[in-house]
Amino acid sequence: MRFIVGLAISGGGPTSHTAILARTLGLPAIVAAGSALLAAPEGSQAVIDGSVGAVYLNVARADLDRAEAVVAAQAAARAALRESRHQPAETTDGHRVEIAANVANAKQAAAAIEAGAEGVGLMRTEFLFLERDTAPDEDEQYRIYREMTEVMAGRPLIIRTLDIGGDKQVPYLNLPAEENPFLGVRGARLLLTRQDLLYTQLRALYRAAKHGPIKIMFPMVTHTGEIEALRTHCARARAQVDGPVVPIGIMVEVPAVAVMADRFAPLVDFFSIGTNDLTQYTLAIDRQHPDLAAQADSLHPAVLTLIANTVRAAKASGTWVGVCGGLAGDPLGARILTGLGVDELSMSAQDVASVKAALRGESFAAMQTLAERAVAATTPEAVRAL
Ligand code: PEP
Ligand code: MG
Repeated sequence: MRFIVGLAISGGGPTSHTAILARTLGLPAIVAAGSALLAAPEGSQAVIDGSVGAVYLNVARADLDRAEAVVAAQAAARAALRESRHQPAETTDGHRVEIAANVANAKQAAAAIEAGAEGVGLMRTEFLFLERDTAPDEDEQYRIYREMTEVMAGRPLIIRTLDIGGDKQVPYLNLPAEENPFLGVRGARLLLTRQDLLYTQLRALYRAAKHGPIKIMFPMVTHTGEIEALRTHCARARAQVDGPVVPIGIMVEVPAVAVMADRFAPLVDFFSIGTNDLTQYTLAIDRQHPDLAAQADSLHPAVLTLIANTVRAAKASGTWVGVCGGLAGDPLGARILTGLGVDELSMSAQDVASVKAALRGESFAAMQTLAERAVAATTPEAVRAL
């Protein structure tokens, strides 16, 4: 990665996992550039503008100079933001939101704290299973989660159980091929059918929880019965290793859960809203579809309405609610989500300083008004125009 300065790919979508990895690495990236990109001769120079999603080929010297000047100005702006990265995200009228990071391992967690994150709102454990030939066993997972607690040193840490399926396939698990993997046996659905995977992970988590606070989160939950079953398995795994009680929460990423959030909230210790999948399932747009990438917009008022409903239900039952999808790391999205009343925003470490600065720059009252108008809007464009 040392020699890669940017990434432009012909396919994919802005919340596909390739894009999420590029963001974690701080690489300027554009997705869904189309097949014309593949025709560029080898050795061509290109300018990638990740902020507007444009890639320029065959650029003239003067354009290259201009691009270099923009890169330098952006680096200077980032350095200025860095100065205030450890200040809390407290609005001008004193409302504070917790800012956390999405990570895949302890090294990224340490980097996130250094970047100003106050906790980890989402550890994606499926990355531990990718790019290898066998599944990590209980001891290996225990060591990884224990290392996480050591790095976090008592800070909040939400570890999500395996979210295999969808665009994250693990060949050695020999799972049957599916026509629509995003609508298939994914996340908690897989864990409930593959209890070998579930118990290995839960036992490792409960053993690690003896070394520092951990919250366990299940992805892709759709039915209340799944929570009841998962809670029973948690209790059993905990007893097997004599682990401590830990909070158990779910991702809110299936519209059914957001719509019925009042009935799910009393069953869990916390919610974390996954806006990437919630957007894909609400708008019926594959999050990796290159032709529909621009339409897969988490600022769509339909998505915001589901988020607002989830937060309202969470507040009514005293359930903590965070957001760990891409919308949390977008300065406008973060202001709207804060205005809706979420307790925490979890994002790529790269976004922490700018989101904190955006939230410090405005009042909670103004964000509440912004959120109300965003939910009442008709199109994502109208939301952006606010
Ligand atoms: C989400 O769906 O918003 C989310 C955070 O989970 P993932 O991107 O890993 O599916
Ligand atoms: Mg998801």
